[in-house]
Amino acid sequence: MSIANGSFSQSYAEAREKFLAASEQAGGHPESFINPNKGPVGETLATDVVWFGDPAAEKVLVCISGTHGVEGFCGSGWQIDWLRGGGPQRLPPGAGLLMVHAINPYGFCWIRRVTEENVDLNRNFVDHSQPYPDNPGYRDLADHLIPRSLDEASLRAAEAKLQEYRRQHGDIAFYRAVSAGQYSHNDGLFYGGNGPTWSNRTTHAIIERFLKQRKAVAVVDFHTGLGPYGYGELIGHYDVGTAGSERQRSWYGPSLMETKRGMSASQARDGLTHYGYNRALAGCDATVVTLEFGTYSREQGHQVLRADHWLHKYGDPLSGEGRRIKAALRDHFYPDRDDWKEMILFRGYQVTRQALAGLASS
Ligand SMILES: [Zn+2]
Repeated sequence: MSIANGSFSQSYAEAREKFLAASEQAGGHPESFINPNKGPVGETLATDVVWFGDPAAEKVLVCISGTHGVEGFCGSGWQIDWLRGGGPQRLPPGAGLLMVHAINPYGFCWIRRVTEENVDLNRNFVDHSQPYPDNPGYRDLADHLIPRSLDEASLRAAEAKLQEYRRQHGDIAFYRAVSAGQYSHNDGLFYGGNGPTWSNRTTHAIIERFLKQRKAVAVVDFHTGLGPYGYGELIGHYDVGTAGSERQRSWYGPSLMETKRGMSASQARDGLTHYGYNRALAGCDATVVTLEFGTYSREQGHQVLRADHWLHKYGDPLSGEGRRIKAALRDHFYPDRDDWKEMILFRGYQVTRQALAGLASS
């Protein structure tokens, strides 16, 4: 583990190149799922995956980066460090490990949290044949969350409306309205989509190709932006008392925070990657955990997300203003500092070690 080896990247294209090179260097054969879109300067967008270990392994660990696009700088950095640092050679006998790099390559490359469909991938794994969950609070706040203009007067007026709602309904209802997910505003925040996105379909293609027929699959999905700076909170979403919850508790111990017990900074929501994997892997022991690294304050997170959504609704992402907004968003989800990266690497190794040990014992 070393910051000096430059496992972290400054752009999606750099991360992709390093991931593919490190995969081959380590003896792997990466496969690419090409996204039909391009990056701002014509970059190829792809989800790249690579398998290590026994091809017939009954037990597999899956490590995912970039569910929320721009958050991919974090998970990618750890993945590349693992590949370069001899991770594949240290796998326990009989284990398989699947690296999924940039499951939302559009968001990673364009510096967005959402996919090319403006969808929060972590709200998109719902049953699209059923009526979508309703979020009336979001409808009340939509125009204040993304005001027509970002000038000072407009922002102040919008903020006053938001704070009024918060006073009337309380903090929990406020955060639920804003960020629990909504299916009514396709240009809004935390939009869950009106069908499976490319990244969702690619997730299912990856599961089909690599994970069906296994006995046990553990997933660690890397995220950033919630919680104290540098701290990696392990978040589980299983219902209390289920086999999934019990497995996670025994593998990860007291550092596991369970949303269904109200323990986590994150709230239980519809459409999470967690549900996508668990449904698709019904019949095998799936153990899915989110590894969420803190950066800066929640308020700052809301400001940068709101500005980015304003930019894609009303502004020009390639303008000077667009670049300023992108730089602030990137900094919020990717503090480009050695101390933060050291914390990512340490915790990334710790959690994946626990997951592999848990798989071996299960
Ligand atoms: Zn995230």
